[in-house]
Amino acid sequence: MTSYRSEALFKRAQLVMPGGVSSPVRAFHGVGGTPRFIASGKGAQLTDVDGQKYIDYVLSWGPLILGHAHPSVVRAITEQAALGTSFGAPTELESELADTIIGAMPAIEMVRFVSSGTEAAMSAVRLARAVTKRQKIVKFAGCYHGHADGFLVQAGSGVATLGLPDCPGVSEGVARDTLSAPFNDLEGVAQLCRSHDVAAIVVEPVAGNMGLVLPEPEFLQGLRDIASRTGALLIFDEVMTGFRVAAGGAQALFGVEPDLTCLGKVIGGGLPAAAYGGRREFMRHVAPLGSMYQAGTLSGNPLAMAAGLVTLREILKPGVFAQLGEMTTALASAMQQEAAAAGIPVTTACVGSMWGFFFSREPIRHYAAARALVDTRQFSAFFHAMLDQGVYLAPSAFESAFVSTAHDAATLDATRRAMRASLAQVANMGPPHPA
Ligand code: PLP
Repeated sequence: MTSYRSEALFKRAQLVMPGGVSSPVRAFHGVGGTPRFIASGKGAQLTDVDGQKYIDYVLSWGPLILGHAHPSVVRAITEQAALGTSFGAPTELESELADTIIGAMPAIEMVRFVSSGTEAAMSAVRLARAVTKRQKIVKFAGCYHGHADGFLVQAGSGVATLGLPDCPGVSEGVARDTLSAPFNDLEGVAQLCRSHDVAAIVVEPVAGNMGLVLPEPEFLQGLRDIASRTGALLIFDEVMTGFRVAAGGAQALFGVEPDLTCLGKVIGGGLPAAAYGGRREFMRHVAPLGSMYQAGTLSGNPLAMAAGLVTLREILKPGVFAQLGEMTTALASAMQQEAAAAGIPVTTACVGSMWGFFFSREPIRHYAAARALVDTRQFSAFFHAMLDQGVYLAPSAFESAFVSTAHDAATLDATRRAMRASLAQVANMGPPHPA
């Protein structure tokens, strides 16, 4: 498939931006080749600058649960823009979005809006430290919580895609305060919490940044029990799963309540908004009510609040999550069936409107298994074949796929046909070249 304009634009971009991108995974280093430069999006479809169309399962890495340029979102943004784009003063929109979030998420009584998931996770940890007066945090290998220093230890997402060791530039002191355990390993967490004074256990309740890895039964409740027993706060980073796996996020789906919750992506409807929240007893420590300082020039930005509010109102309508769930299950089963028919070992998973697959014989339950067992060469070949057939997946074997309300029976059929053709190409690849 031609991508002449993308190639030209990528050459130019690389002269003026590291890797030619504003966020690493977009550069296609995980799969090789030229990233497509995007001209527009509508519904489930992306159009690149060469005029090629793609069914989009990246959806801006999760936010676009209504698809691209949804009329209600476009209207809300346009109307708000005409009234002013930023005031640095309170607006009614913030309280409306806060009310909507609090109404849906079981463990949130108050929220503070920020502009990115990174800020949300960073601030939630600061709050946990302020509340507990402890320093250490426990995170899970392969989970990603944004790029704040303390989280770049055994991180997922781009760090996993690029196979980077722990990040230079993070001071030893900061790195020492981050303890890491394998996902789905309760005993590992229990041990860390026994031998250290832990301020917070931070987890993606469904891991979406090492590929899609579901929590095993009892894992989340086990974390809740360990946190309560040892005085650590439990933080669910629901930046990806909030309003994605269920209306009330993973905390509603699995019936486990964290102390603090991080949100992002969907709550901004495709504009920069994120939040952290929790019970009043913890949130009262946040300035100006308390002394834990955290602020932002564009926090609670009215355009983002308007886009988020309309998005949440649409997806909280009855039946929307059931419809998203059916489509997501159908996509994961299509992948499983087509891979089986092609004789290629693949494992799949799905939850709410997230789905994922690994080119692996064995089920993947944590990051070390993902790194050891997943055939990234097969993934890259599959990725490029899908792109050629007009299906846009995340350019990494260690990311999740997303579904929007704009995906329908026609996009499902087209995706299944693309899977069949692409898996046939993977089957014909032959053995890896000797190193
Ligand atoms: N937390 C999770 C679970 C994420 O998936 C991400 C981004 O992918 C972040 C935090 C960081 O969010 P942002 O990229 O908005 O800073």
